[in-house]
Amino acid sequence: MNLKDYIRDVRDFPSEGILFKDITPLLNNPKAFKTALDEILGYLDGKEIDKVVGMESRGFFFAPMLALNLDAGFVPVRKVGKLPVETIRQNYGLEYGLDTLEIHSDAIKKGERVLVHDDVLATGGTAEATCKLVEKLRGEIVQCNFLIELDFLKGREKLKSYEVRSLLHY
Ligand code: AMP
Repeated sequence: MNLKDYIRDVRDFPSEGILFKDITPLLNNPKAFKTALDEILGYLDGKEIDKVVGMESRGFFFAPMLALNLDAGFVPVRKVGKLPVETIRQNYGLEYGLDTLEIHSDAIKKGERVLVHDDVLATGGTAEATCKLVEKLRGEIVQCNFLIELDFLKGREKLKSYEVRSLLHY
């Protein structure tokens, strides 16, 4: 099946000039959903993973399922102020200004093997900030993977020190 048939382009969302990749048609179709999950799991074949880190909010669709299938824990990375106990923070650049991501300080132990997952790799700022959070907690990043990579934005260049895998390229 062609999974790109289940990705919907939405022009000017959430702001003008953005061509938003809407993955809800893929989530809506159990065959497409399962095919995507199995293909991403295939990237981890034989790799041991202790924690899967998913980024708010669309990273939360696949990351917990990847975690259960890999016999790993799930760790949410969230926008500032959403996590209830002690966190560490990382700023990252947006087109205009800065944003901040947080992770619980006790979510990853030194030396744990970590998979970082998000739905879309665009400029790479979100994934880079997430990797910095994992490394501050002294986790070891085994792979960063994505459902979709927007190749023309060259986000991969910000993740040069890691293995990066993406299912669908645009
Ligand atoms: P970036 O930090 O630029 O790599 O942006 C990645 C984050 O923004 C991801 O969490 C995506 O969910 C979201 N994102 C960025 N660009 C798009 C897009 N064109 N379509 C859908 N989501 C996007």
